Amino acid sequence: MAQAQERELAVVIGLEVHVQLETATKIFCGCSTEGSEEPNTRTCPVCLGLPGALPVLNEGAVEAAVKVGKAINADVPERTRFHRKNYYYPDLPKNFQITQYDAPICQDGELEFTVESQRRTVGIERAHLEEDPGSLQHKGGSIDTAEYTLVDYNRAGTPLLEIVTEPDFRAADEVRAFLAKLEEVLEYLGVFDPERDGSLRIDANLSVVEAGEVGDDGHIDDDILESANRTEVKNISSHKGAEKALAYEAQRQKNAIQRGRAVEQETRHWDESRGITVSMRSKEEEKDYRYFREADLPPLEVADWKERIDIPELPDARRERFREEYDLSDEAADKLTSTKQVADFFEDVASEFDANLAATWVADNLLGELNYRDMAITDVDHRLDEIKRLVELVATDEITAKNARETVLRDMLDDGTDPDTIAEEEGLGKTDEGAVQQAVEDAIEENPDAVEDYHAGEGGAINFLVGQVMQKTGGSADPGDVNQLLREELE
Ligand code: ADP
Ligand code: MG
Ligand code: ZN
Repeated sequence: MAQAQERELAVVIGLEVHVQLETATKIFCGCSTEGSEEPNTRTCPVCLGLPGALPVLNEGAVEAAVKVGKAINADVPERTRFHRKNYYYPDLPKNFQITQYDAPICQDGELEFTVESQRRTVGIERAHLEEDPGSLQHKGGSIDTAEYTLVDYNRAGTPLLEIVTEPDFRAADEVRAFLAKLEEVLEYLGVFDPERDGSLRIDANLSVVEAGEVGDDGHIDDDILESANRTEVKNISSHKGAEKALAYEAQRQKNAIQRGRAVEQETRHWDESRGITVSMRSKEEEKDYRYFREADLPPLEVADWKERIDIPELPDARRERFREEYDLSDEAADKLTSTKQVADFFEDVASEFDANLAATWVADNLLGELNYRDMAITDVDHRLDEIKRLVELVATDEITAKNARETVLRDMLDDGTDPDTIAEEEGLGKTDEGAVQQAVEDAIEENPDAVEDYHAGEGGAINFLVGQVMQKTGGSADPGDVNQLLREELE
């Protein structure tokens, strides 16, 4: 029997990424944005939406948004303004969210990233400021099965930047690479804390079109994009989650189409623990929100902010500079610019010691050991001076590189002791020349067989003798020096 012809399908994805901006206080009131164990303690009449309370805009949030705008090459308009987005939900005490509508603070930007060694650019339609709602805790189940739900308004009013991309992604792995790059840039700008719970939340829109509609350069006509039925997947909170949710959703839609069923235009919820997306509601439309101007906030002139606000060197530029200035391999430059803190630390070490030594120590030794322990540089930021001291011990030849790496660094990370103490307690100070010389002579005297083998031209004999000397010196001699000394002594 002939098999039904499978249709060739392609995936289209666009993102709405909600980024919590790092400011000390909330976007429209003076409450702290610092999280708290105690629910509903970081609140005031403004963020609780009490009648008569008036919002006052936090300039820090605007500054952070302008920084992002510069970093993604967006247009920042002369003036920006706020709107009310009306909807009822228990985490939203005012029954509207203050957000931006027709004049968002960033428009028409782009972000370049690498996926599978390919450079890709995704358009950023807009990025707008808004307030975060409170958070709901579903008790005894998930959103649709919980017995009851608690609400905590500590988060309500945390500044958010919602970054909306063009539907430029063609696969789930591109999304993951994009998010990693976006986080990197946000971190470099100092406007974002990736360690914070829920600091990056993603809604992903996905549709499936005929493969023939996609041009060689990935272009798809606007009318095709508009007419494609798409779903919006909510509740994604990590890069990996995004990739999984979208891979699942792509397959679900493809299956439906292959079976001749239409894809419903709807909002779906990513259920992380079950690894599936579930239908929540039919997709709401813009007109449902009854957007209108927020009359309690005047329009904001931002014409000169863009000139006034500086941004630091961004990861791509820094990577390029590292490659040239320090003569690093692509791999080392990538590792050393993976976060701003790593890059800053590398440059700090490289300014005092040899750049090669600094690169080995930061990119290979430190990051390697941290990675092995599932730690990040942020976990040791209060100990970077100690790590620098360890590099100094190596640079000044006080201990061998091997001991520094395999004993001192590991002990430092495991026990929290400082490098000088460890080196001293473990007796790792490089043995003085006299003692090494003595050990060489002893090894020769105690091992006549090996000496004979050496003279008979047997290659392994010298290694055996080096091993003997290393043992006698507790590993603190330099194996290269020992080899040299032995040969001199044996001739
Ligand atoms: P809406 O009015 O529904 O919010 P927008 O045009 O503002 O629609 O787009 C919202 C998001 O949907 C954007 O991230 C955009 O990239 C994405 N999007 C638009 N068209 C498609 C499509 N055909 N497939 C997947 N995502 C899409
Ligand atoms: Mg939208
Ligand atoms: Zn408040």
